[in-house]
Amino acid sequence: MRLENKVAIITGAGSGIGRGIALTFVREGAKVIVADWSEEGGKETISQIEKNFGAGKAIFVKVDVSNANDVKNMVKTCLDTFGKIDIMTNNAGIVSNGLLHELTEEVWDKMINVDLKSVYLCSKEVLPEMLKQGKGKIINTASVAALVGFNTLPHYCAAKGGVIALTRAMALDYASKKINVNCIAPGVIKTEMTKGIENDPQTLQNTLSQIPTGRLGEPEDIANAALYLASDESDYMTGQVLVVDGGWTIK
Ligand code: NAD
Repeated sequence: MRLENKVAIITGAGSGIGRGIALTFVREGAKVIVADWSEEGGKETISQIEKNFGAGKAIFVKVDVSNANDVKNMVKTCLDTFGKIDIMTNNAGIVSNGLLHELTEEVWDKMINVDLKSVYLCSKEVLPEMLKQGKGKIINTASVAALVGFNTLPHYCAAKGGVIALTRAMALDYASKKINVNCIAPGVIKTEMTKGIENDPQTLQNTLSQIPTGRLGEPEDIANAALYLASDESDYMTGQVLVVDGGWTIK
């Protein structure tokens, strides 16, 4: 088991990629905090974990990752329950569409707060524990939308670009403390977030034509990358962007 005796927090674990990561981490021996805004989603993840791997491996914590008090409570619950924190997986995120000149300030701020500021808030809260422990892994979720432009996603592209820049800066500051900070840039993965693509045959065909491997990604494709970044196997890797997109961005 690649994460034996490790403790991980996974935000956005009530759905899609985060749920896939939670199931994979527990399968590999970790204890996990399933952190999500959605109580229904979080509880469903816990029930899948218990069904597959038994009780006592995971608990749900309701959190708005853009709220500093919620984040403090999430990390405190992790320490009170499992005694430590080895892996912080900053995965929760939202997406919305709009042209820049039509975006309200409210929509812009919400995107930056949920998709970028949350990485600052959650990392800030776990870093003192990781520094005490002398080791830690922080895994952030960016997107291919941070690497190439996408129509009607200026706020999303900006937030995810910020996640990559923040990953590099944090990696530099904590490398000598044995805290690795990396991020994953997923392509189009089958989750609630991309239901609109899957449900519209024309959009699906257009999307598939962009993907050299010829299929949409599954949450497990991202979970496997996260598993590598969470495990000791990636100890010599920091500040990197692991692109998992079926080849979308190689063209
Ligand atoms: P999803 O919508 O299935 O899951 C996102 C989860 O985050 C949900 O459970 C939601 O409740 C939770 N969440 C949203 N706002 C929150 C908040 N403020 N506090 C706490 N939880 C919150 O989406 P997904 O596809 O699994 O996305 C996971 C991450 O992957 C996101 O950061 C997303 O931007 C990124 N991503 C997804 C894709 C894709 O194709 N699906 C591609 C690139 C990047």
